[in-house]
Amino acid sequence: VLLFFISSCKENEEIKLEGKTDSIEQKVTDLLAKMTLEEKIGQMNQYNGFWDVTGPTPADGDAAKKYEHLKKGYVGSMLNVRGVEEVRAVQKIAVEETRLGIPLIIGFDVIHGYETLSPIPLAEAASWDLEAIKKSAQVAAKEAAAVGINWTFAPMVDISRDARWGRVMEGAGEDPYLGSKIAVARVQGFQGEDLSSPETIAACAKHWAGYGFAESGRDYNTVDVGTSTLNNIIFPPFKAAADAGVKTFMNSFNELNGIPATGNAFLQRDILKGKWNYDGFVVSDWGSINEMIAHGFAEDKKAAARLAVVAGSDMDMESYAYVDELANLVREGQVDEALINDAARRILRVKFELGLFDDPYKYCNLETEKAVIGSKEIQDAVLDVAKKSIVLLKNENKLLPLKKSGQNIALIGTLAADKTSPLGSWRIASKDSTAVSVLEGMLQYPDNHLTYAKGADLTYGETTFAKELNINTSDKRGFTEAVSVAKSADVVVMVLGEHGFQSGEGRSRTHLDLPGVQQELLEAVYAVNKNIVLVLNNGRPLTLTWADEHIPAIVEAWQLGTQSGNAIAQVLYGDYNPSGKLPMSFPRTVGQVPIYYNYKNTGRPVIPAPNEVFWSHYTDESNKPLYPFGHGLSYTSFSYSNLQINKISKDEVNVSVEVANTGSLSGKEVVQLYIRDEVASITRPVKELKGFELIVLNPEEKKTVSFVLTKNELGFFDNSGTFVFESGDFKVFVGGSSDTVLEQNFKL
Ligand code: BGC
Repeated sequence: VLLFFISSCKENEEIKLEGKTDSIEQKVTDLLAKMTLEEKIGQMNQYNGFWDVTGPTPADGDAAKKYEHLKKGYVGSMLNVRGVEEVRAVQKIAVEETRLGIPLIIGFDVIHGYETLSPIPLAEAASWDLEAIKKSAQVAAKEAAAVGINWTFAPMVDISRDARWGRVMEGAGEDPYLGSKIAVARVQGFQGEDLSSPETIAACAKHWAGYGFAESGRDYNTVDVGTSTLNNIIFPPFKAAADAGVKTFMNSFNELNGIPATGNAFLQRDILKGKWNYDGFVVSDWGSINEMIAHGFAEDKKAAARLAVVAGSDMDMESYAYVDELANLVREGQVDEALINDAARRILRVKFELGLFDDPYKYCNLETEKAVIGSKEIQDAVLDVAKKSIVLLKNENKLLPLKKSGQNIALIGTLAADKTSPLGSWRIASKDSTAVSVLEGMLQYPDNHLTYAKGADLTYGETTFAKELNINTSDKRGFTEAVSVAKSADVVVMVLGEHGFQSGEGRSRTHLDLPGVQQELLEAVYAVNKNIVLVLNNGRPLTLTWADEHIPAIVEAWQLGTQSGNAIAQVLYGDYNPSGKLPMSFPRTVGQVPIYYNYKNTGRPVIPAPNEVFWSHYTDESNKPLYPFGHGLSYTSFSYSNLQINKISKDEVNVSVEVANTGSLSGKEVVQLYIRDEVASITRPVKELKGFELIVLNPEEKKTVSFVLTKNELGFFDNSGTFVFESGDFKVFVGGSSDTVLEQNFKL
């Protein structure tokens, strides 16, 4: 049903766009004919905001240059200009003082909200709820548009298998199928059905491509991946975003197989603009054109500008390379002016589609800004998706949900009263201390006796990289109080995890444990009271092996944004029955990373019982993750039965399964369908997610869930990049996680 819904929406959109595109195309052509070479190059130049409404900051040399360029019409876009007054000020110069009055497109990293924050994207992915994710992007767009923003640098659709990489917080996890669905939901949420509406903004699929495969998880590091992984794992969410009409792409800091992504013609020209026929524009990542010099790919800024534009980068973010060098390159015959015309056309097209030429100020209105920011609609949407993002990892003896009265509860931990870290990374426009803390959320349930002790600090240097390395104190003085409140409690709720800026860009880690003295705090409390509910606030999978062995209940609450504490309290008290499922595997140890469910078999199959291990194994650790992709419990339980496969045609089957609620509470389950192509011309993963459906079941209720598998799901990309379906033996698996419970073979 979902597939049908998405494809039928797309059809409508295409029909609508066709009509619109024609007249826009003509307007762009007419405008281009009036523009000088420098003005066209100006459209390709993006500057970071220098502005304060009184004018450029005199101390900032760059600001003076940017201001001059802005007045001449040599700036096509600005980022990080924020607030109605600032946007109006720069837009006014572009529209009223330049020769042609072409409006700027104002970009901003609206990653999980503007000022009111949704959960970090990885957390939202754990909801597997495409409607809630779409709504979250939609309200983010509405809030951002209300302050004059036209364009977000989101969604990040990089697949990653490496939790050491800090930016996993910004993506949808390890799986290309789930990642593609979420990419589409986010693009549709940001852009809406009508881009010219004052409540929608252009989206940007980033980072094209391979950024999530940085070697050893170190941000910006070399990426060296094979063709099959590129085609089947890395590209699909980008293709899905392009098909959903995403208006822009951002390229990437990394090199890919020896060529920096920014200067990579294979990625930008051959695949994106060639094979996929993409007509939006590509913005460079911040300074990434100049970074090609440090990569050892361009000898200087001029060469970098030439390499980037020839490779298909349309807009230069903060390298000053296009604005300073391109005109000369064209005059010297080193760059064909047709490339400039094409890039400018792509950028102008999006500006027309946004309606900026009709009313450049339509996004900038103080009254709307006031009415929209933090409105009830937005708070409700971010709370809704926050609840849905929580994953119940473990719940022994039904310790959760907590009883609502008569309990003596100790709330302990570095993050229990924290109002900043739950906001997570990427919160440029949100102020510190604006999240609802777990303490505040739990105080909404007044019939228990709640005692709070922090136990330890989670400190984090915020000014220099050197300071950041020294992340946590070793101060254990708070342990005594924590242990003492824990002793007399019926239940202990401990909130531990990562500082809000410990994940995100440039925040790679080699350890994935609880930072600082938190593990010791957990063990100290456990020594006096084993009835612990561990609530985690973190931006990436952590290694929780000790906790899994000892702590009866574990709740993965990520960084849930503005409404964090309310969402957590509602789950702890059972007002929301958790339904999230992990979008990334949680390793047992860092040494297992990269670890992912859709791995390949080796030529060394499993050693038979009693050993039953893979020949390809570690001598000191299992191959299995601690918690697999797709894992997540509920306060009720579900059973799966009656898996049936019926052939529809030579390349289509119908798969159905019965799911029953076998517990005593009503609950939501994400029914997951995986396949394996047993023999193929390119080896295929042991399992690949190819369908999922969220269902709600009351106690004793049963539902039959059906999926149709076509060659789109059963095929794959061969090494020439062609999508192929090869008939033969397949296997289907279903269950409530990638650790599936039912399987059956079939032949096509
Ligand atoms: C990031 C991008 C981001 C850009 C603008 C870069 O450092 O990699 O994802 O959109 O900055 O803030």
